[in-house]
Amino acid sequence: MSDNALPFSQLVLASNNPGKLKELQAMLGAHIDVLPQSQFIGEEAEETGLSFVENAILKARHAARASGLPALADDSGLAVDILGGAPGIYSARYADGQGDAANNAKLLDALRDVPDTQRGARFICALALVRHADDPVPIICEGAWEGRILHAPQGEHGFGYDPLFLVPEQGVSSAELPPEQKNQLSHRARAMQLLRARLGLV
Ligand code: IMP
Repeated sequence: MSDNALPFSQLVLASNNPGKLKELQAMLGAHIDVLPQSQFIGEEAEETGLSFVENAILKARHAARASGLPALADDSGLAVDILGGAPGIYSARYADGQGDAANNAKLLDALRDVPDTQRGARFICALALVRHADDPVPIICEGAWEGRILHAPQGEHGFGYDPLFLVPEQGVSSAELPPEQKNQLSHRARAMQLLRARLGLV
């Protein structure tokens, strides 16, 4: 089997997020039937890994095991240089599950008095595709989006840390970018482009 040939016509997306399913279906839909994991299981995998890649693989294996089909998972978050990569894999629950506004407030507090030159950060997205639950050779694609943490929220689009993430080339936060533009530049878009290339779809 060639690495580039598509050895399957269906895969399960290991996420209960309808937005991600839509994005993936649009990207792979002409070639592969992308099914939601909710067709097979209710509960999400336990994210016990210490890296985005480990958690993406755990999620993909969980969905492949429940469905008996190949599975694709993603894990993403924000890594801030001066915080040693935090909030990292804990991005969604940085402020103990209190939501995006609390996460952003906690991040601003952690960076109080830190000058612009030391506010470097990146969004990371790891995609993992397993052909079956015990696949010893998962396909891994990672995307990064480099930026800087602002001193106050700006913009209304997006979600999560977007209002605090300055995109230096555009001079605006990722919450100020029109969604179509964010979807071309983002960490997720970059990881997905790599996956498409890896699957021979470009
Ligand atoms: P998920 O694993 O993709 O659901 O994302 C984990 C967390 O990382 C989200 O809850 C956000 O806090 C953060 N995150 C991931 N991607 C983005 C993004 O594109 N913009 C803003 N925050 C993001």
